[in-house]
Order: sequence, then C-alpha cells, then structure tokens
Amino acid sequence: MSWLKLTKQSLYLMGSNSNCFVKKVDVSSSNSKPSELRLSIPLDWFSGRDVPGSMVIDLESDEPDACLVSVPTPAASTPVSIATTAGQTLVGKRIVLDPGHGEIDGGVNDPGAVNVPLGKNERDQVRKQADIIKAQLEANGATVKIVENNTGKSLGQIGSEGQGADCFVSLHLNAFNRSAQGHEVFAHTAGTSVDVELATKINDALDKALPITNRGVKRAGLGVLSGVPLPVPAVLVESFFIDSVPDIQTLDQWTNDAAKAIAEGVEAFLA
Ligand SMILES: [Zn+2]
Repeated sequence: MSWLKLTKQSLYLMGSNSNCFVKKVDVSSSNSKPSELRLSIPLDWFSGRDVPGSMVIDLESDEPDACLVSVPTPAASTPVSIATTAGQTLVGKRIVLDPGHGEIDGGVNDPGAVNVPLGKNERDQVRKQADIIKAQLEANGATVKIVENNTGKSLGQIGSEGQGADCFVSLHLNAFNRSAQGHEVFAHTAGTSVDVELATKINDALDKALPITNRGVKRAGLGVLSGVPLPVPAVLVESFFIDSVPDIQTLDQWTNDAAKAIAEGVEAFLA
C-alpha cells in the first residue's frame, strides 16, 4: 500500500512499502499570504489501484529519492515497426511544450520577463519558439502538443499535461539587471538523472547555437516541473536574458536559433 509523506518542501506519494516517491507536489508560499505555506493535493492520488493508506509528517529527515522507473523492453519476438520515411527519427514520440507565462492572475495577464526599450516580452517570444520547435519535431515524425498560455491554468495543471509524453519542455527567457546574459536549463530539484540528461542535451545544443555564456544545467524546485507526472522527463529552458538583448534583430535571431537548438536537443535525447 502506498503512503503519503509531508516534509518541509513537499508532499510525496510514496511507493508501496518503500522509501522512494512516485509523485510529489511542492509546498509553496501564497502570494496573498506570504506567511503561510500552501499545498494542493491532487485528487487522482486517491483513485486507482494503489491509494495511500497512511500519512507521515516528517519535517526533520532528508527529502526522499524518486523511485527508479523500470522501462519495459519489447519482447525479442515482437516485430519492431520502422518508419519508412527517411530521416523521421521521432515517429511515435510525443512531446509537450509549455511556452511560459500568460496566466491570468487577478485579472492581469502575466507577460513574464520584459525588455522595456524594445517593447517585447518573454510570453510572446517563447510562444514563437514553441511553434518553431513543434514544426521541426513534427518534420521528424513526432507528435507535439503546445500547452497554450493565456488560459489561466495553474503551474501544476500545466505540468500535468505532460502525462504520457516522452518529454516535457517548458520554455522561458530570463531577466536580471540588463547586463547579465547566458543560457541555462533546469531540471527539478528532485528530478531524475534522465531529466538531467535531457537538460544537458538541450543546453549543449544552445551552447553551439548562441553566442552567449553557457550558464549550465541547474536544479530548482520549479512549480511547473513539479506538476509533470513521473516518469516523464521534464526540463525548463531559459534560452537567454531578454532584458539585455540590444535590438529587435538580435532578439528575433536568438529566439529563432534557440528554438532550433532546443528541438535539436530533444531530438538528440529521444532519437
Ligand atoms: Zn519565465
């Protein structure tokens, strides 16, 4: 029987009679009441074959590791169908893209990071990236779903749309002090080595495509990645710092080049 474990960071759905977790949701602070922590418990944890039978509140010990996921290998006698179209290396693969921001919060549409002098924002640029990435991956035979922004979904709901995918990629641009620049790719704090492999493939491709600092692969407790059900590999890409891009031509070039690189990274991971 599975069980629940509450720590300072997260509520975990723990595997049956084990000390590793199958799913988790992060405890987060509330915007309206910063002094409080909030927790949303997915109702689907309480349906299906293995519902939790008990809960342990454990605020002292370390966060648990994710349960290793065994990938079923096809039986040797099963004929493997090979795509007949040359170059279509991603036939049968399903990718979910999440262009970040656009959530309506208190009646305000969140533009994400902005470049005020250029009048451009992260929300619109990453939405363009999603279309470029989708076209490139579909040309290789993949099925790509874009989680539309501007729909008012919570980060957890957006992440949950990764259910059943071969990978989930959240698209973002950074901003800091109008001079910092570089690309970085995040796996979740509690992400698996497979998440890090996907992040590394994408970050390596960005490093080849963009003339900016390689800030590397990092881990963070990002809400949208928390919502992606295991074992779906999930990462969040920060292609560049939009606030220090000098002009529209560079912005268009980097948006485009980064999108192509992200698609290449996904291809290298899945092919
Ligand atoms: Zn963002």
